[in-house]
Amino acid sequence: MTTICNIPSTKDKKRVVIIGGGFAGLKIATLLDSQYYQTVLLDKRNYHQFQPLFYQIATSGLEPSTISFPFRKIFQKKKDLHFRLCSAQEINTELGYVETTIGRIRYDYLVIATGCDTNFFGNQALKDASLPLKTTTEAMAMRNRIIYSLECATSTDDREEREKLLNFVIVGGGATGVELAGALAEMRKFVLPKDYPDFKVQRMQIHLIDGANRLLGVFSEKTSKVAYDYLSKMHVNITLGATVNSYENEVVTLSNEQQIPTKNLFWVAGVKANSLEGFDKEQYGRGNRLIVNEFNQVNGFKNVFAVGDTALMASSKWPNGHPQVAQPAIQQGENLVNNLNRLAKGISAFRPFKYNDRGSLATIGRNTAVAELPAAKFYGFWAWMLWLFVHLRSIVGVKNKLFTFFNWVWSYLTYDQSLRLLLKDEIPESEGKKCADELTTPTT
Ligand SMILES: Cc1cc2nc3c(=O)[nH]c(=O)nc-3n(C[C@H](O)[C@H](O)[C@H](O)COP(=O)(O)OP(=O)(O)OC[C@H]3O[C@@H](n4cnc5c(N)ncnc54)[C@H](O)[C@@H]3O)c2cc1C
Repeated sequence: MTTICNIPSTKDKKRVVIIGGGFAGLKIATLLDSQYYQTVLLDKRNYHQFQPLFYQIATSGLEPSTISFPFRKIFQKKKDLHFRLCSAQEINTELGYVETTIGRIRYDYLVIATGCDTNFFGNQALKDASLPLKTTTEAMAMRNRIIYSLECATSTDDREEREKLLNFVIVGGGATGVELAGALAEMRKFVLPKDYPDFKVQRMQIHLIDGANRLLGVFSEKTSKVAYDYLSKMHVNITLGATVNSYENEVVTLSNEQQIPTKNLFWVAGVKANSLEGFDKEQYGRGNRLIVNEFNQVNGFKNVFAVGDTALMASSKWPNGHPQVAQPAIQQGENLVNNLNRLAKGISAFRPFKYNDRGSLATIGRNTAVAELPAAKFYGFWAWMLWLFVHLRSIVGVKNKLFTFFNWVWSYLTYDQSLRLLLKDEIPESEGKKCADELTTPTT
């Protein structure tokens, strides 16, 4: 029997169903005119996640609650918006409905804003063994892993085991990898000597690996070099032009035959778009993204749109689609919602999307960031200040902005992050046993 999801019926309004409340979906749900449209927002989480600051959760700089925002709270005052917690699975474009884990949902207009997931490039072993950083939960898992490894390293007297526990391997030298490496290096310098006086912090090694011949591939070569120099000064071991061949018996083997024993393999090397059943293969392009025209309409449909990371809009300037970062997602959301609002008011001509590239930023550590704006490139303190300002401004909610600001000021003044909690109900038996064995093994 077909289950129909319970949503109040629309009499005189068209229903817009948005799948995904990320940067693009949130913008559309916020700005869609409720005088003309009923909005149905579907997401498999009940909160919006601010992904650019995940690495700070992973390195104990921020609490998840400061960068996660419940949809029901965000939309308390929005009329005729209905949030449903579910996973969308299949689209029936002929009959106009979405099949979800809570039943079928009819649409007049459909917006697919499902973003991306981590890409392990088909390597199941790496998927099973490494920790990605694409959700709040994964960021928490990474934080637990870092703290737990440090705890176990303090207790063991097995040199090989300790080396594995203290080698942190980050695969992927894009902004996330660089930011994560920088934050770990700062933790090693400022926090570890105080928290773990029992071992020499120099034993903790941070490895950053990328298959390309430079870091921060989307930035200019000059900026890549600056980032490389900053991280080298922070004693991060950078390996370029090498990919991960395998991870077996807690040893990472690279294509240049280098081997790194580690229990901490962090995978931030690539993304692929989240796809749904119901579209032909030809409708997907590079990176599993749905091919759209300049109005974000999915090929062949007037009322089905894809926006943000999951959409592939090729143009002469962006032949492979726009960069998979927040600004194109937000701007595509804005353009689409303006078009839908105009359509409802009887202005039928859709305006094409034009990307306004405002530049790129990446932070590396205390007082250190790189900034590439359309008018200038600059590095160091002022780039870092700009990074702080831009990210603080983008966080949803006044309380969250204040909490984040307070945390940052506190860390800056005290050279400390105060959130190093190992939040696990129980330690997995294999790990727990190992650590317990180590804890009880008499020192020789
Ligand atoms: C660690 C990290 C750091 C980043 N740093 C930066 C940065 O510094 N600057 C920058 O500009 N960009 C950064 N990005 C990229 C940026 O976050 C993305 O480009 C942006 O989030 C894309 O927005 P979106 O709306 O397309 O998708 P998302 O924000 O990913 O949202 C997708 C939403 O869809 C939901 N969803 C997915 N599938 C389904 C389904 N089947 N059913 C229901 N719901 C579903 C998800 O739960 C999610 O809420 C970073 C990303 C990561 C992971």
